[in-house]
Parts: sequence; C-alpha cells; structure tokens
Amino acid sequence: MADFGGDLELEDFRAEARAWLEANFPASLAGKGLAALTDALVDSPEFSAWKKAIGEKGWATPTWPTQYGGGGLPPAQARVLTQEMARIGAFNPLMFGMGITMIGPTILDYGTEAQKQTHIPRIVRGEVRWCVGYSEPNAGSDLASLQTRAVDAGDHWVINGQKTWTSGAQWSDWCGMLVRTDPSARKHDGISFMLVDMHQPGIETRPIALIAGASPFCETFITDAVAPKDALLGQLNVGWTVGKRLLQHERASQTGAMGGGGRTVPLHEVARKYVAVDAHGRIEDQDLRTRLVRHQMDARAHALTLVRAAAEAKEANGATNAASVLKNSATHVAQTRAELTLEIMGAQGLGWAGEDFNREELETVRGWLSGKAMSIYGGSAEVQNNIISKRILGLPDTTHSS
Ligand SMILES: Cc1cc2nc3c(=O)[nH]c(=O)nc-3n(C[C@H](O)[C@H](O)[C@H](O)COP(=O)(O)OP(=O)(O)OC[C@H]3O[C@@H](n4cnc5c(N)ncnc54)[C@H](O)[C@@H]3O)c2cc1C
Repeated sequence: MADFGGDLELEDFRAEARAWLEANFPASLAGKGLAALTDALVDSPEFSAWKKAIGEKGWATPTWPTQYGGGGLPPAQARVLTQEMARIGAFNPLMFGMGITMIGPTILDYGTEAQKQTHIPRIVRGEVRWCVGYSEPNAGSDLASLQTRAVDAGDHWVINGQKTWTSGAQWSDWCGMLVRTDPSARKHDGISFMLVDMHQPGIETRPIALIAGASPFCETFITDAVAPKDALLGQLNVGWTVGKRLLQHERASQTGAMGGGGRTVPLHEVARKYVAVDAHGRIEDQDLRTRLVRHQMDARAHALTLVRAAAEAKEANGATNAASVLKNSATHVAQTRAELTLEIMGAQGLGWAGEDFNREELETVRGWLSGKAMSIYGGSAEVQNNIISKRILGLPDTTHSS
C-alpha cells in the first residue's frame, strides 16, 4: 500500500526547504555553480553569506549527524533539498577540497569520538580544506606498494616520503594520508591512515600543470613531518581497510557524469547551432544523429540508474563496490558527451585562446581536456573493472588491486 503519510511529510519538508532557501540563497548567485564562480564572486559578500548560512544550517552535509553540525536529514529529505536547490539554481558552496566528499564520511565511519568532535564541525562549516595523500611515484593503481614511512617516535609519529597527484595540496590545511607503519608486514598490511596537519615545515607542495592549463594538484614532499599519536584514523596497520572505504566514498561522489566539459544545454541544441539541419529541424548528418541519440539514451539510463541506486541504498552515502560501476558509467557518459560536443563544434572546438572563440567554446575545450582525468582519478577505469569482476561478479582474483 502506498505510504501517503510519508509523501505528505516529504511535501512539508519541501515547503520548509523552499522557504529556507528563499530566505538564505542570494538570487545573484543563481545558476553560477562552483565551476562558473570567478574570484570576484567568491570574494563577494553574497558568497560569504551563503557559505555561512548553509554551513550553520548543516545543509552542505545534509545527512551528517546533527551532533557534529550536520543536517541530520534522512536520505529522502536530502534528495528533496537537492531538488529544491536545483530548482532555483542554488549550489553547495562547500564542495571544495575533499572534506565533504571523502575525508568527512571516512572520519564518521572510523574516527574516534574525539576525532569526530575535532574535525567534522569544521568540515561542515567549510572552515578547513582537506586533501588526500595516497598516490606516490611508484604507487598508483598498485597503491599498496606505497613507501611513505611513519615511524613511532614515542609521543608522536615522524613521516618521510613523497606523494604525487595530490589534488589541492597547495591550498589544504589537512591531509588524509596513507603511510607504511610496518615495513616487515605483507604489503597490504602494515599500512596506516593518518590525519596530517599540512601547515608544518616538513611538508612542501609543488603544483603540477594539467593538460587543461590549471595546476590543481601537486607533488608533495614529506621530510621529517610530524603527527601526534592520536592522528591515526582506525587502528594501527589496518589503514588499507580505512583507505578502501575512502575510495568508495570518492567513487560515490564521482557518479554524476558532470565532468568532461559537459555543457548543461542538451547536445541536440548545441548541434543545431553548429551543424546543418534539414527542413524538419533534424541534424542532417545521419551518423552524427544516431551517435547523439545513443549518447542521450546512455545519459538518461545512467541518470535513472543513479536515482534507483540512491532510492535502494540502505546507507545514505552509497559507498559500496557498486560505486565502481556507477563511476565507470558516469565517466563513459561524460567523456562521450565531451567528444561529441567537440566534433559538433568543428573548428570552433579547437580553440585554446583568442577572439575567434567565445568563452563557452574555450571552456568546452578545456573541459574536454580536463575530463580525460575522469578515467584515471579515484582509481582508473581498468582498476574499477577489476573491482567489479572480483567483488561484484565473484570472478577469480588475477590482480592485487582493490
Ligand atoms: C586529476 C587527477 C587528480 C588526482 N588526485 C589525486 C589525489 O588527490 N590524491 C591521490 O592520492 N591521487 C590522486 N590522483 C592519482 C590517481 O589516483 C592515480 O593517477 C591513479 O590511481 C592511477 O595511478 P597511476 O597514475 O600511477 O597510473 P598506473 O597505476 O601506472 O596505471 C597506468 C595504466 O595502467 C593501467 N593499469 C594499472 N594496473 C592495472 C591492473 N592491475 N589491471 C589493468 N590495468 C591496470 C591503468 O588503468 C592505467 O591505464 C589523481 C589523478 C588525477 C589524474
């Protein structure tokens, strides 16, 4: 039987969310989204006010527990909040760094009460920025080969080594880092997860330029950096388990198919602007038309699968092995859209700078380039396939990646 009571409660919440957003989201920021924000907008009083309001309400982290400042909403209400924000072009201003998407959820899963009290409220209010220090020059897909060492110095840890591809390290206050604490153990054992303060002389970050022009990630050099004894997240030498959990949270946050320079305008509308159409307004090139429709069907199927997965998820955060399937599917949709967009734009899709191209065309090209990283970060597409084969399909284990 239908649960009309639940529906009515949700509609009550919708009204509450709508009223709160009306009172607190500055109309001047509507439709901007984090990607479109300029420095001037980020420094504006409207942006600061929005950040403060949503942080204090806990609605930037709507399902997190209220005792740490989160919104405490059940998943269904959190979805209504997302719908209401989308309806008025509002966005979450605290989705910078990796606090909300990865570190916070992992601290909630594995942290001590003291760690939750210390770190979660500051993430909820957007007061600190976090990065994730996993990859090393010789440990990417084979992450368990990592060599950064943390040595017990009695009342603290001393850390030495090098991380690489550390997104946002140059702007971060804290790092969730995987370190080797027992070099004599098997490689998946002897690893620990540490919460490391980035503001210390032992940590140096050197930004690396990405193909799309920006330098949003770094080589991170760690020389006699220190961390207190209670910096361990989870138990000593079981950091691999904690680390895998963070990766599930990471993948769960990468299932939206929004990367790859995708425009929000439907592709067939972009196409009508750039390529020939017949008397009925249809794209003349039948091959392009077919591929475009196939892509739109894939995108729709992915979006519906996401909604179904969210509705079926017992956990609010969706951090399961299924996130690997959704991450690969999101990557496929986003990268295909970017490729098709460039093809449709023809010569206008080849611009890097200059007056011959409008701003949207230049952003599309850079987005197409930065979207290449989607099938690499968070574990490459091939590594996701290994996880799907091993952990979901139960096929024989032929690799050590997990
Ligand atoms: C934009 C961006 C941001 C990133 N941010 C971070 C970050 O914040 N923190 C962090 O720690 N890391 C970060 N990374 C690193 C990322 O996690 C690694 O690049 C990724 O895990 C792949 O590792 P690798 O680059 O060493 O490639 P490799 O592991 O050397 O892989 C090279 C190729 O071999 C394939 N391959 C490797 N092993 C297997 C296997 N067993 N089966 C099949 N194919 C295999 C891979 O799929 C890939 O195509 C980021 C990467 C990018 C591109």
